[in-house]
Amino acid sequence: MTDASIQHILDYLDSKRPDTPCLVVDLGLVERRFREFTATFPDTDVYYAVKANPHLEVIRTLVDLGASFDVASPGEIDLCLEAGASPERLSYGNTIKKRRDIAYAYSCGVRTFVFDSAQELEKIAAAAPGSQVLCRIRVSSEGARWSLSEKFGCGRALACELLRTARSRELVPYGVAFHIGSQQQKPERWNDGIAEAARVFHELACEGIALEVLNLGGGFAAQYRDSIPNLESYRESIETAVSLNFPDTPRPQLAAEPGRHLVADAGVLRSEIVLVADGGERDGRRWVYLDIGRFGGLAETDGEAIQYRLSTSRGERPEEAANIAGPTCDSADVLYRDAHYLLPTGLAAGDHIDIHSAGAYTTSYASVGFNGMPPPDVHCIGATQQAPRHTDSAGTESQ
Ligand SMILES: *Cc1c(COP(=O)(O)O)cnc(C)c1O
Repeated sequence: MTDASIQHILDYLDSKRPDTPCLVVDLGLVERRFREFTATFPDTDVYYAVKANPHLEVIRTLVDLGASFDVASPGEIDLCLEAGASPERLSYGNTIKKRRDIAYAYSCGVRTFVFDSAQELEKIAAAAPGSQVLCRIRVSSEGARWSLSEKFGCGRALACELLRTARSRELVPYGVAFHIGSQQQKPERWNDGIAEAARVFHELACEGIALEVLNLGGGFAAQYRDSIPNLESYRESIETAVSLNFPDTPRPQLAAEPGRHLVADAGVLRSEIVLVADGGERDGRRWVYLDIGRFGGLAETDGEAIQYRLSTSRGERPEEAANIAGPTCDSADVLYRDAHYLLPTGLAAGDHIDIHSAGAYTTSYASVGFNGMPPPDVHCIGATQQAPRHTDSAGTESQ
């Protein structure tokens, strides 16, 4: 999204001057992203990954647009149902679930579950009889800024075996899922996942088990500091791999689970500078301390993996290097040191720093209040609402 498209977020921040830290999400931009995604992938079912931004207004906006949802817990199920989603539109995509949580989902009407191990499959067979199950296969997340692969997924042989078991346990062997890593900057990386999934489809087809769904996961990028591929390059890459690996019809029904791509660029997080310390006594570089850090929602700065675009109330030039850190009494609460951020000279306590493309994986990562510092407020603005409502990060109205 261009900087012009967030102008009304900035106008809102400048005119309302809300307490910081504060995330403003433009629901109109979320809508635009969703429409662009479905237009680019017209034959793909879109399951929004709720964990990216679980604000009730965001979920409502996507429910109204016809999205489905990738949920990971009873809390996310309740949230989607409250926002008006029907349970058939929910996929319980977390491969690590308590048996009673599976039973809860089933009691709510959820009938699609993902697993990657024998024990999980047994839990689903027992607590959600007759449901549709997808097996998550392991893929490398090379090329992704935020890995989502090492912890999940099984190999092809086990996937085939477990999907056979699923049938014998009277579940519906429904498909194969994978996640190529979040903020995946190499569209060609989907090829491996699609090729591996296709082998599972073909092997089981020979035994008379017809899988239906190929779930491509998330990974579609947002605009941080690096340049990123456009959505069309992702489409091309995925389409090429699907055609190559499923040469015969019928092709599988495709599903995708974008999280970051739909919401990140629709949010700006405004923070206030609490302190600027001369670097003389430390590493020679200025230290700029914000009123938000690792524990207030900027968890993806871990390892400096996600590097947000920043702007300040002092304009741009001249600039000099700065280390950027959060406000808590924890030395892990440093955002950027190696990433070489340049910030205006003369920055001082009280100035603002705007963190761009902060609509994903920020408020959902914030601690309840480490060191007594509350998580950011969330304000949703934009076309699909009558008036801006002021809510806390859980979506509870407080105005
Ligand atoms: C987090 C997650 C997603 C979303 O990934 P993005 O990279 O944000 O699009 C999708 N699917 C699953 C199973 C996830 O855990």
